[in-house]
Amino acid sequence: MSFEPTTYTSKEITLALINDALLAKQAWRLVHHKESLFCRVFKAKFFPHCSIMEASDTTLGSYAWSSILKGRDVLNKGARWRVGCGESIGVWNDAWLPSLGYPRVLSNLVTSLEDMKVIDLIDPVSKQWDEGLLQGLFSFQEVELIMSIPLRRTYIDDKLIWPYTSSGNYTVKSEALPVKRNLRRRKIIEEDTCDHCKSSAESEFHALWECSTLVLAWNSVPELWLHHDQNAQTMLELIKLIHDEGKDVNLLAMILWTVWNRRNKLRTTNEDYPVSQVSINAKQALTEYHQANQVVTLQSLVRTRARVNWSPPPAENFKVNFDGATFKEIRMAGLGVMIRNSLGQLIASLSELVNLPYSSDIVEAMAAARAIYFAQEIGLNSFILEGDFEAVIKCLRSDDDSFSPFGHTLAAAKATTETYCCISFPIFVDLVTLLLTA
Ligand SMILES: [Zn+2]
Repeated sequence: MSFEPTTYTSKEITLALINDALLAKQAWRLVHHKESLFCRVFKAKFFPHCSIMEASDTTLGSYAWSSILKGRDVLNKGARWRVGCGESIGVWNDAWLPSLGYPRVLSNLVTSLEDMKVIDLIDPVSKQWDEGLLQGLFSFQEVELIMSIPLRRTYIDDKLIWPYTSSGNYTVKSEALPVKRNLRRRKIIEEDTCDHCKSSAESEFHALWECSTLVLAWNSVPELWLHHDQNAQTMLELIKLIHDEGKDVNLLAMILWTVWNRRNKLRTTNEDYPVSQVSINAKQALTEYHQANQVVTLQSLVRTRARVNWSPPPAENFKVNFDGATFKEIRMAGLGVMIRNSLGQLIASLSELVNLPYSSDIVEAMAAARAIYFAQEIGLNSFILEGDFEAVIKCLRSDDDSFSPFGHTLAAAKATTETYCCISFPIFVDLVTLLLTA
């Protein structure tokens, strides 16, 4: 998409960019939410035999479909493949190198290898990069980048991730809430009446606070003592009102978020979401938020001490500590694992050198994965896994499909523990730990 600076005002360009971002969001859903009705309908109609990224844009389709293809172009410019088994990724055209500036191979295409996939660069036996082949095909810098992509021994899908957010997920900036009034302004829809009360235009303030159908939700929060007759005309005034009266602004934020979330659920799914559930869900989310924050605070308070004051696991159990280190000069990373019993005695330890991955988070995740494999190799089926790298622990404790650059590394290791049936993750005071139980 190109803009002629002489014919478009900057405001129009901004609107067009927001519009692109929303279209890209649709395309992103088609890539990642394959089971949704939205995706199944479009797939059956427009790309029955391939993925949306490969769908031909010459298909004559509806207005919606051509819009989605426009969104796909936005994704194509920014999204990057996270290499799993490599079978979905084209070597020459897809963005798969871990470089924000040059994610596509720049070395000359080798004739007769046009259709080469990334899986063809991986030794099928060792499941490692075929270094000789890489050196024959690519520049020195590209070989280094490719060697820094960690590979797994088990089968993992390739995944399209968004490298500009820490979660790897594509998000649209929240200032462009797609309430109906904004959509009408952008000429996406014709009329902007609120679906719930059917009496006024759906502005952000209306959708979150003003709508008469939300009275029950707001009135059931005695902590805020908010009633609709209180005088606030804008979101800012509302927040100020709560703040000035010394009430819990976090609770307000959580309720606003829950109201917004409910509105979107009602629009996109057939699920029932009674308005009476809003304050209950919001308070629960807030409690979880506070608990998580408490842990982080405790952790940062005791972090330096915690490293010294290692505490042994309960009787008959084992504690598996892991850590990663990078050695940039030799382009290697070290993975360390130590396993101790309840008397604090060292039962087993391991240190291993691997090719330097492109970020230190990945080193830490590889150490965690190695620790899980190692504990199983020596026959432990119940142990406490302990590490102090928050992003990695968070990812280990989550059941969601992670889009982070190391999500697949941890998922593969966690998958092997499923045969041991139950995984629970109690939080200890000194370090966030997780417990794998037989
Ligand atoms: Zn309304």
